[in-house]
Amino acid sequence: MTRVIDTHTHLYFDQFHSDLDDVIERARESGVIAMINVATDLESSKNVVDLAEAHDDIYAAVGVHPHDVVDVEEEELSILYDLLSHPKVVAIGEVGLDFYHDLSPREVQKRFFQRFLDWFYETGLPLIIHTRDANEEIVPLLQERSKAGWKGVFHCFSGDDKMARQVLDMGFHISFTGNITFKNFRNIGVVRSIPLDRLMVETDAPLMAPVPHRGKRNEPAFVQLVAQKLAEIHRLSIEEVCHQTTQNTLELFGLEK
Ligand SMILES: [Zn+2]
Ligand SMILES: [Zn+2]
Repeated sequence: MTRVIDTHTHLYFDQFHSDLDDVIERARESGVIAMINVATDLESSKNVVDLAEAHDDIYAAVGVHPHDVVDVEEEELSILYDLLSHPKVVAIGEVGLDFYHDLSPREVQKRFFQRFLDWFYETGLPLIIHTRDANEEIVPLLQERSKAGWKGVFHCFSGDDKMARQVLDMGFHISFTGNITFKNFRNIGVVRSIPLDRLMVETDAPLMAPVPHRGKRNEPAFVQLVAQKLAEIHRLSIEEVCHQTTQNTLELFGLEK
């Protein structure tokens, strides 16, 4: 069994309500040595911290998803900020820009994202970045503040070659979900071009279930299928991919395993 880390999951979603303990156990049995449970708003930020306190191998990321920033009040932000100093909180996320769904006004998304970038500078915690249909906006916005000094990951990456270069040049890692196992995934060449020491794997569970579970509920145990696909694309063994992505994850998020 190969040790692997699911760097992005949402264990507090309703889909896990009735059998979360089984889901966590199945992950462990399949070789998942750690999971990063990523918040999307204030309530889930409190929730991920609670779950991380209860399990050694579950870590927390605290932040507000671009979909949800429109509902956030100033005093809620200071509660979130205080959570960042919790020892099991290993990242700020997920944060970013989503101009595909546009669930929050774009100006509000940008304002909040800038705020979360301030937090990066203030805490040194890496960023977990969600971006969709906003690549043209997010890259210059980051470059304006730092050309190469970033620490973090672009999760569920779907950008092109140019975007991948820009993101890597700024210092970021790139992670993939079940998206790379889908028949209609177009950017296999981009995946292959990313150096192994900057790659990570994730599920984004309960969403984005990899083939052969596509369309069903995803869970952290399935991260092995993402690693398997990455191995095929990079023409490596799954052991090599799991070993290196685990190493990258431990270093980026400062996890002890
Ligand atoms: Zn996301
Ligand atoms: Zn997510």
